[in-house]
Amino acid sequence: MTGPVFRYALALGGNRRTRYGGPRATLAAACAALSAAGIAIDRMSPMFATPAMGPAGRGFANAAILVSTPLLPEQLLALLKRIEQDFGRRRGRRWGPRPLDLDILLWSGGAWPPAPRRAAAGRLQVPHAGLAARRFVLDPLVRIAPRWALPATRRTIAQLHARAKG
Ligand code: ATP
Ligand code: CA
Ligand code: CA
Repeated sequence: MTGPVFRYALALGGNRRTRYGGPRATLAAACAALSAAGIAIDRMSPMFATPAMGPAGRGFANAAILVSTPLLPEQLLALLKRIEQDFGRRRGRRWGPRPLDLDILLWSGGAWPPAPRRAAAGRLQVPHAGLAARRFVLDPLVRIAPRWALPATRRTIAQLHARAKG
């Protein structure tokens, strides 16, 4: 018997050198680490260069991927955090320099936690709270999932992307 397989959209970002090289090489290595952990990578966006914001200092590489896995959102987040740590991520300032940031953007199961519950502060929330407002997330995501619609509003990524440009 096989259980359900879920689809996720993930955001990848980084602005530090790691043992894998610069930010782009690091994001490619992060995809390899996800595959090695049993996550099937179905699509990957091109990599985008994003100028630094806030105290981060250096420009970021950003990308988005679509993956398939039987893991539930909390289980996938735990794996993403393990990989971030493996790549040298340390706890620190939000928006600060980081070798690797892996966020869950969307989930085929809709909202997490399931509506009408809302995530407690600091806890996992899907769709990602910054999704609709962030060009550096929407630019890669629209290349691989333009027709994916957000659960609450039914707005597609293509629509959000068009708005974010406005
Ligand atoms: P942002 O969440 O605004 O992109 P960030 O990625 O810099 O900021 P982190 O320090 O990486 O923030 O993560 C802070 C916490 O956000 C994590 O401990 C995680 O539990 C929580 N979180 C909530 N929703 C998500 C999500 N959709 N994907 C990843 N982490 C999430
Ligand atoms: Ca983030
Ligand atoms: Ca994060």
